[in-house]
Amino acid sequence: MKKFFVLVFVLVPVWQSVFSQKDSKEKFYISVADSLVKTALTQQTGHALLGELCKIGPRLSGSANSLKAIEWAKEKMISLGFDSVWLQPVMVPRWERGGVESAVIVSSKKFTHKKLSIASLGGSVGTDLKKGITAEVIEIHSWSELSQMKNKIKDKIVFFNIPFDNSFSTSFPAYGKNVGYRVQGASEAAKYGAKGMILRSITSRNDNVPHVGVMHYIDSLPKIPAVAIGVIDADFLSKALAKEPNLKLRIKLSCKTLPDAQSYNVIGELKGTEFPNEVIVVGGHFDSWDKGDGAHDDGAGCIQSMEVLDLFKRLNIKPKHTIRCVFFINEENGSRGGITYGEFASHSNEKHITAIESDRGAFTPVGFSVDKDSASFVKISSWGKILERAGIHWIKQGGSGVDISYIKNAKCLIGFVPDSQRYFDYHHSANDVFSEVNPREFELGSAAMAVLVFLIDREGL
Ligand SMILES: [Zn+2]
Repeated sequence: MKKFFVLVFVLVPVWQSVFSQKDSKEKFYISVADSLVKTALTQQTGHALLGELCKIGPRLSGSANSLKAIEWAKEKMISLGFDSVWLQPVMVPRWERGGVESAVIVSSKKFTHKKLSIASLGGSVGTDLKKGITAEVIEIHSWSELSQMKNKIKDKIVFFNIPFDNSFSTSFPAYGKNVGYRVQGASEAAKYGAKGMILRSITSRNDNVPHVGVMHYIDSLPKIPAVAIGVIDADFLSKALAKEPNLKLRIKLSCKTLPDAQSYNVIGELKGTEFPNEVIVVGGHFDSWDKGDGAHDDGAGCIQSMEVLDLFKRLNIKPKHTIRCVFFINEENGSRGGITYGEFASHSNEKHITAIESDRGAFTPVGFSVDKDSASFVKISSWGKILERAGIHWIKQGGSGVDISYIKNAKCLIGFVPDSQRYFDYHHSANDVFSEVNPREFELGSAAMAVLVFLIDREGL
């Protein structure tokens, strides 16, 4: 008994000091998190920079605009006082829409001359600009229906009319369900002799704006033109076909693929004061589709990443590890920027601790998704109380981001997850413009990433 009491008296002060150390450390981290949030939300510097970037216009890989934006980003990182800024050369595929894209009903009792709201899918071949392609349309709702109807496909335009599935509580599973039709639909239809492909836009919004995105051909099959159609006109076309199954549509497209072009990843960093060779990457993809400004996808993710470093500078936080912001080029139609950075990371003598990607729009932060390494997941989860200060409600295990997935030697990879409900209203369309980015939502995202980077820098993974 005596011994026990002695032990208790000895241990109590030790425990107290351990607890109070932990307590005061947590209090300190919470105060830093609060400062990051307050600075981001009140100064809104990143949001203003996104406005500057969006004024340049869309940033399709290899385009003159994308190169202008790359130069802007490099100069901006230099003017923000990052310790080093450089361009990493990347050869990118180059596809151009050109000025002609039309789909008109040309042979029908009731609907002749009706123009449909369409846009070429990224990578599509064009058509003869005088004659276009003219054909009957066959409406298809699934892969199985396509193969059942294979004898009726020859010389027709296949119209994949598959609505956005609103039965999920988040929007990404609905996108995941339909995106295969966009990517492979033309080749699958060409297998059975189709002349063209129309895809109902993959969007949660009920407007008539086409939502584009990348598509791929299978080399052994004929390459047929492929377009997205606005959902209002998709419904119109479906009803028109119910009345007149033999109506004909003429599609003219000027899009084409040019030789690969020189481009760059834009990279800027704050050098670590204690571990300069240990790197925390934070990034997004700098290319965008060409119909809007690429404000949400993914100008926002890039500028949020840049703002993480800038917030450290504004609050005079000196990172122990090197914090590197990477604007990856060409995620949309090739991922060449991600691949190039991944190769660089595997050959360099640096150690990549982690990489965080923001590529799900500039909406209210909800969580972080941690890919690989369960120990890191447990550690990040233990910071819930601190991350909550920036609106983070959960840490889950799951996917991170396309670009950072090529950094194979990082301990773990992390995706920043904002609320997803409105993302596919904008995604890959003319709706994706700066005015649709809410400054508070955007800035809270920057702050959430900055808090996580700060904790990783101090606590390791
Ligand atoms: Zn994106």
